[in-house]
Amino acid sequence: VSNTEHCDVLVVGGGPAGTTCARHLVAAGLDVAILDRQTFPRDKVCAGWLTPPVITELGLDLNDYARERVLQPFTGFRTEIIGGTPVDTDYGEVVSYGIRRMEFDHYLLERSGARTLLGEPLSHMEREGGLWWVNDRIRTPLVIGAGGHFCPVARHLGARPGRDEHPVTAQEVEFRLTWEQQDHCPVEGARPELFFTPDLTGYGWCVRKGGHLNIGLGKAGQHRLGREVSEFCRYLQANGRLPFRLPEKMQGHAYLLYPQQRPRPLFADGLLLIGDAAGLAYPQSGEGIRPAVESALMAAETVVEAAGEYSAGRLQPYAERLAARFGPRRAEPERMPWLPRSLKHSLATHLMSNPLFTRHVVLDRWFLHRQQPPLFP
Ligand SMILES: Cc1cc2nc3c(=O)[nH]c(=O)nc-3n(C[C@H](O)[C@H](O)[C@H](O)COP(=O)(O)OP(=O)(O)OC[C@H]3O[C@@H](n4cnc5c(N)ncnc54)[C@H](O)[C@@H]3O)c2cc1C
Repeated sequence: VSNTEHCDVLVVGGGPAGTTCARHLVAAGLDVAILDRQTFPRDKVCAGWLTPPVITELGLDLNDYARERVLQPFTGFRTEIIGGTPVDTDYGEVVSYGIRRMEFDHYLLERSGARTLLGEPLSHMEREGGLWWVNDRIRTPLVIGAGGHFCPVARHLGARPGRDEHPVTAQEVEFRLTWEQQDHCPVEGARPELFFTPDLTGYGWCVRKGGHLNIGLGKAGQHRLGREVSEFCRYLQANGRLPFRLPEKMQGHAYLLYPQQRPRPLFADGLLLIGDAAGLAYPQSGEGIRPAVESALMAAETVVEAAGEYSAGRLQPYAERLAARFGPRRAEPERMPWLPRSLKHSLATHLMSNPLFTRHVVLDRWFLHRQQPPLFP
């Protein structure tokens, strides 16, 4: 029996980028299959913070979503530089949501309307006569790489994760609080807590979502993350933010922020990268779901316009759309490299203990991106 599959578009990766792109291509009448190495529901290392434009861009029906899933509204934040004085910012309205990726990604996958090929990694791809043969059995004119940071399609295009790239690395744990822990946990669901590292190259977080707690820390640059994460947990325990031991080990992951000194190639004949595979997360906050969804929308628009002719030239508008939305992909040299690190640090410590700066710059601009309306509202 032949198990050969044909499709108009093969999306590799069923995360937010892949399912969003697939959904729009299905709506445009294309036969789309999503290939993922995992079976769903599957977990994903992520704090699960969604900013409101994501809800708009996904056309998410929050009532439907929340019927059987965790949806935690956030109305404020507590921020501090580790060891400094916390600043509480209260918006008096919902400014973000907390979700569990296990539930969220499964919901988006089922809603996409695409065929699913789950539990099968992309292990091999080859081009023959203008078509791709994936895993020697799936035949398609277009492969969309949405496989996250280590996406095999990105590797095929020349990306070398762990070699000549500079990702953020992060560790995180999410677990269900016992009833007793729920009573004693001082972190409020409506007010996630952010803890910036003294060198300002990253931050830790405590995010409570219903009866779950998510704790983690992510940083850019060369460092010993494991040690920093342990110190962060000890700090939380010493300050009463975490009045019990973590029940599980932290999970680690890496991903690229936008822009990069050496951006990954984005497209080629019959190939396109979206989401983390393309390295798009916001540089100040590390938010990656919104750029993943937006890149998926821009990719879908480009693919529909290409009308079945997927040469690199026909896919080029995707790169132009990304640059118009997120700016140039190549990072510029560091600003003010002559400014001593200690001075930058004391300046930042001073600014970040100021409630107005925290609200209008750190939260509104860097974390909530309130200055940038949703794509295709
Ligand atoms: C610790 C941490 C916390 C974060 N917190 C947030 C947050 O709170 N809010 C936010 O917006 N962003 C956050 N991010 C970033 C966010 O998780 C990512 O940017 C986002 O998941 C990218 O979505 P994606 O669809 O591109 O990739 P992913 O969600 O990574 O999905 C990729 C899919 O590809 C599949 N895949 C991988 N390899 C293969 C293969 N060989 N063959 C087939 N399938 C494959 C995987 O199984 C997976 O399902 C966080 C990241 C980390 C590491």
